[in-house]
Amino acid sequence: MTPRTSVVVVGGGIAGLAAAWELSGAAQGPTASTPRIELIESSGHFGGALRRAEFAGRTIDLGPDGFLARRPEALTLARELGLDEELVPICASGASIWLKGALQELPGGLALGVPTSAKSLKSLKGLTWSSRWPAWRDEHAPRTMKVTEDVSIGSILRRKLGSELTYELIEPMVGGIQAGRVDELSAEAVFPALFAAAQRGGSLMKALRADTGAGAGAAERVLGPLFMTLRGGVASLVEELVRQLRERGVVLRQNASVSAIRPTPSNLYPWEVDTDDTATGASAVILATPAPTAGRLTSTLDGSLTDLTSVNSAGAAMVTFVFDARDTTLPPTGTGVLIPLATAWNDDVMMTTAVTFLDRKWEHLRREGEVLVRAHVGRIDDRRSEALSDEALVARVRDELATVLARVGAPLASRVQRWPEGLPQYYVGHVQLVARARQALAPYAIRLAGSAYDGVGIPASIGSGRRAAREILTQVDVATPT
Ligand SMILES: Cc1cc2nc3c(=O)[nH]c(=O)nc-3n(C[C@H](O)[C@H](O)[C@H](O)COP(=O)(O)OP(=O)(O)OC[C@H]3O[C@@H](n4cnc5c(N)ncnc54)[C@H](O)[C@@H]3O)c2cc1C
Repeated sequence: MTPRTSVVVVGGGIAGLAAAWELSGAAQGPTASTPRIELIESSGHFGGALRRAEFAGRTIDLGPDGFLARRPEALTLARELGLDEELVPICASGASIWLKGALQELPGGLALGVPTSAKSLKSLKGLTWSSRWPAWRDEHAPRTMKVTEDVSIGSILRRKLGSELTYELIEPMVGGIQAGRVDELSAEAVFPALFAAAQRGGSLMKALRADTGAGAGAAERVLGPLFMTLRGGVASLVEELVRQLRERGVVLRQNASVSAIRPTPSNLYPWEVDTDDTATGASAVILATPAPTAGRLTSTLDGSLTDLTSVNSAGAAMVTFVFDARDTTLPPTGTGVLIPLATAWNDDVMMTTAVTFLDRKWEHLRREGEVLVRAHVGRIDDRRSEALSDEALVARVRDELATVLARVGAPLASRVQRWPEGLPQYYVGHVQLVARARQALAPYAIRLAGSAYDGVGIPASIGSGRRAAREILTQVDVATPT
């Protein structure tokens, strides 16, 4: 008798869970041909950085607090899970930047922090006059640059727009999202529109204006809100997903770390997925772990897969505060503040890279007389926060906020959440590294999924997990180890 097809998903972050959802029939639900599905997660928690907690009378997310709504994947999954009514749009826009000791409102029409017209910089104080010249030049007599293969985001920006705009204005946004450095991050993988514009030649700003629609003004009205969340927190998506997967009979295991994936062609199943005390037979495997783990688990199949172990990740800490609205003053508008790297502070450099005004973004988090603020700390090359206790980190970040914001009182409540290695870094050559790994695994029924490969962020991770599952569902019968 042919055994029932068995698929093991390794890693219970949002990518692994989304893969299990797709394998179990997605919105339509399981059928007679749905495989047995087992998801194995090494920690005691499903969802990775998607996690929520009660804090000062609200349910807040401890990791991501929203997702890009102009990509369909997270919205679609929420709707498939029946969470339509829980979706809420962001209710503020704009942001400020801390430049040369003062808060400045960011100009409109930025594409991932890159200005799309020289004119838009006119109102931005805190930049030297000479920094504006490269922007004017880019529009009228753009510098040439030969880009035939992947380069760093920083090398394109410096050549086209000069160092000051690169490090003071653009890096805080694009580098901040990745907790990385523009001089290391791959243009092709992290900012494809910038890479394509640089390859085409001509004005970078004009190309981005056309490509991304930045500066179109009415984009929000036409395309809907840029970001969304769920009333109970983004993490409620995971909790509902886990509940419905269990209902479908998916086996969800926690506190079990996968230690090996072994070809067992003479057994009932062609693969065996091992943890310390179990061995699960599998027709196919989806690896939705960080890339180094995937590399270690597959390197015996093809030596080139060890390259995956070189994918670094940055850690971050988020410090959330409730302040009394009477003694804390935020800028009049905007969702938060960006702080350029290496911003001097006392005899040191600021640890805070960005500040988010959570209750401005999300209406349901507002409470009369209070202000809910979150500071983001840490970058790939700044691990200073790891050496501080939670108490010391709260005190340090509050003092930094007191510099950046007009007035900051004593916190009514605070909470530190640390995310060691939460943000994979796509260095120059990342697209090729991932393509080589996928090619090496192509002969086998093993697929890679998650934020290490197809884009950092919730929508990209969901899309990656579901794509891997669809590939397995269509290829599993033919894919056996040799
Ligand atoms: C601080 C922070 C803020 C963020 N903010 C946003 C935001 O606002 N919006 C947004 O869209 N995105 C945001 N992101 C990014 C987003 O959270 C991630 O891209 C996404 O959650 C990644 O999901 P994943 O499933 O690919 O990876 P992960 O969540 O890392 O899941 C991988 C899982 O594999 C497990 N695992 C590892 N090794 C093994 C093993 N040997 N066996 C079994 N299991 C194993 C891990 O325990 C983990 O649960 C943020 C990330 C961080 C860290």
